[in-house]
Amino acid sequence: MSRKQNVIRLYSGFADGAIAVKSEIEISQTSGIPNFDIIGLCDSSIRESRGRIRAAINASGFVMPKGQITVNISPAYMHKSGSAFDLAIAIGLLIVSNQLSLPTGTDIYAEGELSLDGKVKSTPGSAIRFRLLNNTNNLRIVFPLTETDSARINSIEGYPVSTLKEAVETLSLPVFPSRKFILNNTENIFTPCEEDTDISILKGQEKTVRALLIAAAGWHNLLLVGSPGAGKTLAGRILHSLLPPLYPEEIEEVYSVRNMYSDSNLLLSSQRPYRYIHQLIAPNKLICNGLNMSPGELLLANRGILFADELCEFSGRIIDLLREPMEDNRINILKDGQTYTFNSNFIFIGATNPCKCGMYMEPSHKCSCTPGARHRYLSKLSGPFLDRIDLFSELHMIDEKALKNSVKNNSENKSPEYRKKVSEVWEICKERYKAYPDKNNGTVIEDNLTELFRVNSNALESAVKLSTINGYSARGINRLLRVSRTIADLNNDKDVENKHVMEAQLYKNRIFNQWSKNK
Ligand SMILES: [Zn+2]
Repeated sequence: MSRKQNVIRLYSGFADGAIAVKSEIEISQTSGIPNFDIIGLCDSSIRESRGRIRAAINASGFVMPKGQITVNISPAYMHKSGSAFDLAIAIGLLIVSNQLSLPTGTDIYAEGELSLDGKVKSTPGSAIRFRLLNNTNNLRIVFPLTETDSARINSIEGYPVSTLKEAVETLSLPVFPSRKFILNNTENIFTPCEEDTDISILKGQEKTVRALLIAAAGWHNLLLVGSPGAGKTLAGRILHSLLPPLYPEEIEEVYSVRNMYSDSNLLLSSQRPYRYIHQLIAPNKLICNGLNMSPGELLLANRGILFADELCEFSGRIIDLLREPMEDNRINILKDGQTYTFNSNFIFIGATNPCKCGMYMEPSHKCSCTPGARHRYLSKLSGPFLDRIDLFSELHMIDEKALKNSVKNNSENKSPEYRKKVSEVWEICKERYKAYPDKNNGTVIEDNLTELFRVNSNALESAVKLSTINGYSARGINRLLRVSRTIADLNNDKDVENKHVMEAQLYKNRIFNQWSKNK
């Protein structure tokens, strides 16, 4: 005797790294011994959803279907985890048991976690999953009310719900009351960066002030060397204050990564990220927690700043991990035999003491380190790592009283003016790098940089001469020309001239070269 079988289908999604994958959920109900099974390479977090779904269905005034229930989540060859399938499975169970009837030919996409009382909650990664849903016609989309920002940045058309009951009532309507979500005005989400940390605070540190401006304008990595209390950390915050807001397309990218591990209370903001790391950071906090793919600092700093404090105290392993994104602006993460690539395009700013006691550069203090100890301290940073840094600047201790006065009397607000200048250079670069999307002076990859940068013959001759005298590597000349290009852009000069190269070489790595020789 054949059993009666009902099968229905609807859609949900999951994030595989930064890639959104559409899932078809099939639900079959047959008469027989009661059973509720979920299959399709799902981990325990999905199998546990059975308890939540059953409770939510009952609490919402519906009845858990009888008989043998099998839920199959495709694609069956990909690992899935998390609670985002709850809502879709619950809706499917109500359809298969005829408690929810839909107009003919209706397709459904649903996602969200269910609580035992039938509420619909956010789950991490919705901003990535919603990428599946823009330009989708004839699909009734329901998602958690708390995910409207993810809906806005992906321009989707759907209906946000706060309970299972609301989802069922809405889906059963003859005309689905969907809303179009759009990010129409980025102005109202603009949060100024670090307004309380104005660049004028760095009085008496002109070289660093200029280095910060060049770093922001050309997207250059920067290393600050100075005594404890000289204002290195402050300089990092100030660099942040010089960066113009995220472009609209970058807002989506930054928000999606933050949304991968955080499910609520995320502010949609055009402020660029600022991430701070110190020497005790674990490798998985830096890259990614492979278990649930929660992003590490290298991903969270994308489109903003990564500040590494006490850089010479970092382990060699961490320094090596920093190298890949500093060179390629992206990182590859291996999980379950598969490689995931993420953008990791930040301005790196490192800060270090000049030696273990920190006083080597201060004329009024005596350094207690031996030349050998100084060398060992600085040699933590390898040549290949230092090669990836465009600008070096020293910071000196300012008399505490003078610093307090300068902060107290600081009525100047110069960062906005500097930020405007940075913004102008970015516009020049956007035009120059039309054929190199997403690139700027610090990151563009091109065999013939001299031509692309319009380096004139005098300037090129100077650069070559300087490299012979100082022993720059090919990469060293390359970095020199990049900084020269930014200085020319700050001056609104079309060509890179001798004077730009002369200024750029002031920011070359002298400290490490010179001191490491003083063994
Ligand atoms: Zn010392």
